Amino acid sequence: MRILLTNDDGIHAPGLELLEAIAARLSDDVWVCAPAEEQSGAGHSLTLHQPVRLRRFGEKRFAVTGTPTDSVNLALRKLFDDRMPDLVISGINAGENLADDITYSGTISAAMEGALAGIPAIALSQAMRERGASYAVAEAWAEKVLPPLVEVPMAKRTLVNVNFPDRAADAVKGIRVVRQGFHDYDRGSLVEGTDPRGRSYYWFGLEEMEHTLDHGTDLEAVADGYIAVTPLQLDLTNHAAIGALAERFVA
Ligand code: MN
Repeated sequence: MRILLTNDDGIHAPGLELLEAIAARLSDDVWVCAPAEEQSGAGHSLTLHQPVRLRRFGEKRFAVTGTPTDSVNLALRKLFDDRMPDLVISGINAGENLADDITYSGTISAAMEGALAGIPAIALSQAMRERGASYAVAEAWAEKVLPPLVEVPMAKRTLVNVNFPDRAADAVKGIRVVRQGFHDYDRGSLVEGTDPRGRSYYWFGLEEMEHTLDHGTDLEAVADGYIAVTPLQLDLTNHAAIGALAERFVA
């Protein structure tokens, strides 16, 4: 099995180093192509207005001067002459990617890019607020979480979003397959300040966002101490709304 790893925290991130170790237990054909710099919050952006460069750090290790989407896209076009990867894994992100974080997340978007190319894709994120930068849950539980995700055939244009809760590994209650939740209303805090040149600046999202814990969601599962596994699809169509909307355009 050929595996392509990427992330949005950058090629030097500890979460990627851990993911490389985990992937090495699944396969001896593991490739890395990750952004050269941190790209958290980059979403599914593709760099269009400047050149992107591919830098080689090892036989199967590359950095891209761009976004997570650039990294996967470029890897799939340039690195694999003989055959494409069988699996794309993105992460392990420093911090959760739950609910409506999904469309902002570079970690998840990198997996989306794999899914768009028809390759099974998994995004891994480790919640870390109370306990500092600890990947202990991901490290301890990845071997239980990943094999079923690799073995089950994935529907087309589907990726799996996995979030590890922020607690001691032996305090994790288990794994739940849940739907995506939503934060209540806003994008968290906005800090205003003045830069050294006297101009205003704004800084997004330093505080935790508020949310009501809907039952059966990724937010609830992680809050309750479970690992949240959520299959996501790239078809964003609200199929139930098509009929009523189409009626408005009948001639
Ligand atoms: Mn990140």
